[in-house]
Amino acid sequence: MEYKVLSRKYRPKKLKEVIGQDFTVKTLTNAFSQEKLAHAFLFTGIRGVGKTTIARIIAMGLNCEKEKKPTANPCSICSNCKAILQDRYEDVLEIDAASNTGVDDVREIISSLKYRPSKGNYKVFIIDEVHMLSNSAFNALLKTIEEPPSFVKFIFCTTEIQKIPITIVSRCQKYNLNRVTLTALCDYLEEIVELEKLDVSKQAISVIARNSEGSIRDSLTILDQCILSFNNENITVESVNQTMGLTSQSFLLDLYINIVNGDINNANNVLNNIYKNGAAPKQIIDDLLNVTYNLISSLAANKNIEIYEKDKFQTIIDKCDIPFLNQVWHMLLRGKDEVNKVSHQIEALEILIIRIAYSSQLPSLETVVKKIKEDNNDELNLDVNDNNIGNDIKKILDAFPEGKVLKN
Ligand SMILES: [Zn+2]
Repeated sequence: MEYKVLSRKYRPKKLKEVIGQDFTVKTLTNAFSQEKLAHAFLFTGIRGVGKTTIARIIAMGLNCEKEKKPTANPCSICSNCKAILQDRYEDVLEIDAASNTGVDDVREIISSLKYRPSKGNYKVFIIDEVHMLSNSAFNALLKTIEEPPSFVKFIFCTTEIQKIPITIVSRCQKYNLNRVTLTALCDYLEEIVELEKLDVSKQAISVIARNSEGSIRDSLTILDQCILSFNNENITVESVNQTMGLTSQSFLLDLYINIVNGDINNANNVLNNIYKNGAAPKQIIDDLLNVTYNLISSLAANKNIEIYEKDKFQTIIDKCDIPFLNQVWHMLLRGKDEVNKVSHQIEALEILIIRIAYSSQLPSLETVVKKIKEDNNDELNLDVNDNNIGNDIKKILDAFPEGKVLKN
């Protein structure tokens, strides 16, 4: 049997099967049941959240033979539904605007509108990446989408709505598809893992979901690739990291531990190991940013982040607090710019690691203020609400631009 990638195999065939777009699904379902379907629909959202999937479901719903009127949940087995699913139904035309950008392509569509559909009830034109159409192509479309023949529907999909003329947008029923939430993605992946009898750990699923940034298709593509790379045997967080070219989480946490301990030598040893394993310096910074983000959200919400080794993660948490991590975050962000400016990126990264490790050992701002206060027999005015004392505080802050607060 032909191998089908997961994103195709599990592509929803009914509106109620669409994941993570509850609001759009509800509105569209109402539009179907109340028979208030627009002439033109516009779906926006990032890649892989279901724009063309929903477009195809609408096309099927308009032409399904099972019901006498359009339905939000087409049968997917009648001959019309089947033909649409297999992309061989002549009255449903899917056009990629990226390769058909010109006014002639649009004119061709328009001239075909005078003929009624040959089989079902509606002719449906799905135009993907519609923002790629030229201005003259948009102009040619304008009048048509305002008053198309009653048997014609246009469905536009785009990742960049800001590039579409407002005159077009205002003539469409507009649906904004969200990034799918992390929880919804994890639940969905877990379901697929069970259905497909895959050997993937819960933590690995969580890493896949996080790295898909809200795109269902991305998450399934990564899962597919992991299954291929590891022959569906014991897919762990490390397997996902390796498949995606991410830095080993374990090494990453080792690096972080050495940084917060101010152990510059060992930090750079671990860094060089990570680098030797093939990670690019910029990727390492991104990965460190990701760990920092997870440390901050773990501290802020007082919850565990499941994707990491518990002991190592806890070791870091015990040594940090949010102000310090916030500072690490900013130093990493600045470091990202710096690596672009040198020809040996790894050297810039080493310096960055040294800088963060060094700053981790500076006394906390609180401690400094306290000490100065003590040394001056309380002569410093530290009342932040008193405008006259601003200078004293400012002097201290100026002296410690990278001043950090580490738990004592
Ligand atoms: Zn059908």
